[in-house]
Amino acid sequence: MHYQEGVQIQSIGGAMIHVHAMPGELAAAHAGRYRTLNRVHPARLLEALSGKLDGDENVANGLCAFEMLAAMSNMSAQSYASAHSMLPVLRLAARQEGVQPHGSPHEQSILLRSGLASPKSDGHVCPECVQADRAAFGFSWFRREHQLFGVDWCHMHRDTLLMVTHPDPFSALPHVWLAKGMVTHAKGVVHSLEGVGSFLQRFTAISTAMLERGRPVSTTALHGEVRKRSAERGLRRMQSGRRPPLSSLLQQLAPSEWIQRHLPNIREVGRYGHLPGLDDFVSKLEPTAGHIYLLAIACLFDSADEVLECFPVQGVGHARWSFVHHHDLMQSNEMRIPA
Ligand SMILES: [Zn+2]
Repeated sequence: MHYQEGVQIQSIGGAMIHVHAMPGELAAAHAGRYRTLNRVHPARLLEALSGKLDGDENVANGLCAFEMLAAMSNMSAQSYASAHSMLPVLRLAARQEGVQPHGSPHEQSILLRSGLASPKSDGHVCPECVQADRAAFGFSWFRREHQLFGVDWCHMHRDTLLMVTHPDPFSALPHVWLAKGMVTHAKGVVHSLEGVGSFLQRFTAISTAMLERGRPVSTTALHGEVRKRSAERGLRRMQSGRRPPLSSLLQQLAPSEWIQRHLPNIREVGRYGHLPGLDDFVSKLEPTAGHIYLLAIACLFDSADEVLECFPVQGVGHARWSFVHHHDLMQSNEMRIPA
């Protein structure tokens, strides 16, 4: 059944429009594109996806929304996780016994909690990527490399990202928001990645490269490496001590306006700045938040290549996005801003 403007689709079954994930599309935005094209209320996403898959004679029973979005894209949940979710950076490390590929059926609770999560609370877009995607495919979509914590620039085009001002950014496509002027620059951002200095360039490159990981690093390996490199730089390896903490190195390396914008909870303790989480995770085996690891890694490694050499990417051989029906492209073009 073809979607037509003004036609209310009543059925939840096979009449729903099939929506493949686009290259690099954020899982949450893929879900948003699906529900907008099919006029599904956010609260009824699971029910709608279930109906769609049942209608296609797939086994939807027991799958969560994330796994169903993967199935709709003809991908395994593992492939979909490493190509479309933010799990590789949200869950950068795990305890040794919990190092499973992202999207593993043994970790459905993680997919339920974080599969559709994003480090940024608003949708971010690069106008040049939007233009390129429209030229190639006729429409645009939200790319996951634009939703990384602290990364205010497009890694490819080097310009500042724009933030969608609508409270439900994934309810329309990026070019629609741009056309309506419903985007804004974050205050105080340096407009080109070339002008931000080597730390933020490195942080951007490392964060982007880490998106490719198919599974977490073990905390034993990652914490051990951070501890070793901290000691080599004369930093303290534990929560307390006379040597400066990792936070003090971060404050030396990162521009203060960027720290104020993204890490407002950094505070002065004695002679040094202290960022909760950053200065104490290495003394534990419990994993911490992904952005804390990325900050530590950008402070202690010289390049993304060095990080990849130290912790080789263990992908899952995911079949990259391979095809999209012309029908889907035409449907996607019809997305409108919700009332
Ligand atoms: Zn771009």
